[in-house]
This record gives sequence, structure tokens and C-alpha cells, in this order.
Amino acid sequence: MPTSKSTEAAERSPGVKDVFGRPLRDLRISVADRCNFRCIYCMPKEIFGSDYQFLDRKELLTFEEIERLVKVFVGHGVEKIRLTGGEPLVRRNLENLIEMLAAIPGLDLTLTTNGSMLARKAESLKAAGLNRVTVSLDSLDNEIFKAMNDVGFPVEKVLAGIDEAARVGLNPIKVNMVVKRGVNEQSILPMARYFREAGHILRFIEYMDVGHSNGWKLDEVVPASEIVEIISADMPLEQIPPNYPGEVANRWRYQGDENEVGVIASVTKPFCGGCTRARISAEGKLYTCLFAVAGQDLRQLMRDGISDSDLSDAVGLTWAARKDRYSEIRSSLTEGLPKVEMSYIGG
Ligand code: SAM
Ligand code: SF4
Ligand code: SF4
Repeated sequence: MPTSKSTEAAERSPGVKDVFGRPLRDLRISVADRCNFRCIYCMPKEIFGSDYQFLDRKELLTFEEIERLVKVFVGHGVEKIRLTGGEPLVRRNLENLIEMLAAIPGLDLTLTTNGSMLARKAESLKAAGLNRVTVSLDSLDNEIFKAMNDVGFPVEKVLAGIDEAARVGLNPIKVNMVVKRGVNEQSILPMARYFREAGHILRFIEYMDVGHSNGWKLDEVVPASEIVEIISADMPLEQIPPNYPGEVANRWRYQGDENEVGVIASVTKPFCGGCTRARISAEGKLYTCLFAVAGQDLRQLMRDGISDSDLSDAVGLTWAARKDRYSEIRSSLTEGLPKVEMSYIGG
């Protein structure tokens, strides 16, 4: 259902549509390509080791450049901004950016984080104007979680971050769990029980073939249907309709209460048809799909002195020409295509 905020944004601009008639509604901005975790499915240590060349500070978009881009995107119909990365909370003074973006009326402003610094930062993020957070957590079992984040980070500290975020009012909190066959299926049920009790929305994400470094194989994907079966056998679920058209997660409610879980079936049930998301990498490249091969260099345009109206035209033309639907056509034909890494493009 559209919120009053989204109605406000829609009134501001009818918005640009792509080749398949999909509007531009969500913008994910990577504010850092670095991360303090080395999740095995995202930034495996063998590739992201001590000699890995991350972006230089001056290559990152400045907060002023991000603010300028957000205003342009809002002009094309964007209603929701998600700050991501890499790990967004490693970006210094992120609260200053949040304050700048929170001053733009009618925007839903949220952030995805690994939660490692959330206990310390939740209060200042809320005070700066952040509306909500999504926290990633793949298991409640320390052995499994530490092996998955591959830096030995303990579960308790992420849970403390989630508690603090809830306390300061960064609600509703969503928790993302990537499920990888043979690694953390046994954590599905304990996670479901815990977050049902805590009253936060847990979303299971099918392991995806983003980038090239994680060595993805189809048989390592636990299909969303299997995840729902596992939970339902213990706590019966009923499907509920999406909150808004194009919502990524399929929603399920526990019978007998109002708590829900979501499953993001990007591999087994692709949702490109309703995909309204654009992404900007930490160095300012615009990608119209998570699996896009190349991005449009908006930083270069800005640093070359482009006017606001020409910048807006450039973005509008790119979206209008968009034909991406990678997940729907995923096959042996797409296997060998070049792709950018999730930690770079922003999940
Ligand atoms: N560092 C932050 C975090 O982990 O929440 C934000 C960036 S991370 C790239 C965004 C989301 O992408 C996380 O929820 C993460 O679990 C998910 N992700 C990363 N690699 C993935 C993969 N191969 N398949 C599915 N989800 C993935
Ligand atoms: Fe870092 Fe997030 Fe990727 Fe894990 S999923 S390595 S926390 S960017
Ligand atoms: Fe959107 Fe691309 Fe994902 Fe399809 S594959 S849902 S077009 S980001």
C-alpha cells in the first residue's frame, strides 16, 4: 500500500519508466566498498585479501555528490533510499550524510548493515534522521556464524545491535539471512523462532550468483519453497499479500499471531517484472540491475561540471532504455557473462 510519503513523492513527479514500463522507485547507494567482514558468499578472503585494491578515498562519491544525485533521482520518482555497501557503517561521519538526505522531504531512508557497529551507532543514526535498518545475520550458532562472516565475529554483538536499534526506534527492523546449502540450513528454524519471539521481520535470501568471486553453484541454493516447508512443519505459515507492487520478498504470517517472515526467491522465483531498483556504486556508477555488466559514470559527469538538468536527463535516458531482467533469463547463457561484485555495487 502506498504510504503518504510515497504518495507525496509520486505527486512530485510522475516518474520515468523503462522499456518494460517499470518505474524508478528505489535507489540503493553504496557508500563504501570496504567491509570488516569477509562473508564467504560475498567477499571471500581468497579474493578480498590484504592485497585487494579497494577504492581510494578520493574515488568515493562525496556526501555532497550523493545528495545531489538523490535529488535528481527523486525528480524521476524515487521514494526510497537504501544506504549499503560493502559495510555502510565503516564510512566515516555517515550521520552527516543521513542528515543531508533526511532533509529531502518525502523519502523513506534506510540502511543495510552487518550489525557489527550498530550497538554503538544506532542512537546517532536515528538522531540524524534514519528511518529504519535491515540487519544481516546468517545464524544464531556462533560456530556457523563465525565461519560465514569469516572474521570470527560473534552473534551476541549483532543481536545487541538489533536490540539497540529497536530501542532507539529504527523500526520495523528487518533481518536478512542468506541460506547456503550445507552451511546454515540447520539455522533456519532457530532463527525463525527467535525473531518471531523478538517481533522482527526475518527474511530468508536465496544464495545468489552475484559477482564471480563466490564460486556460486545452483545446488548450493536452498529454494525458498523448502525454507517455507521447514518452518511450516514446526510453526504453520499462511501466505499474505505484498505490501506494495514489486515487493521483493514473498510474505508469510505465522498462524495465530501477526508476526511474519519473508523469503526472497531471486533464483527460483525471479521478480524482475516488478523491479524498480537502481544502484549507485561507491564510486558513482549507475547500475540498472544487480547483474549489470557496466555502469554509467555519474561521478565523472558531475566532476566535469554537468548542470543539474543535463544530469537529470542523463539519468532519465538511462532508465528509459533499461531492459534488464537477468534473473528471469538466468541460464547457461548468462553463466559466463561478466558481472560486478555485490560488495561493490551494493546489495
Ligand atoms: N554489509 C551490509 C550487510 O551485510 O548487510 C550491506 C551490504 S551486503 C552486500 C547486502 C546484503 O546482501 C546482505 O544482506 C547480504 O547478506 C546479501 N548478500 C551478499 N552476497 C549475497 C549472495 N551471494 N546471495 C544473496 N545475498 C547476498
Ligand atoms: Fe560485508 Fe555485507 Fe558482504 Fe558480508 S554481505 S562481506 S557484511 S558487504
Ligand atoms: Fe532487478 Fe536485475 Fe534483480 Fe531482475 S535481476 S530483479 S532486473 S536487479
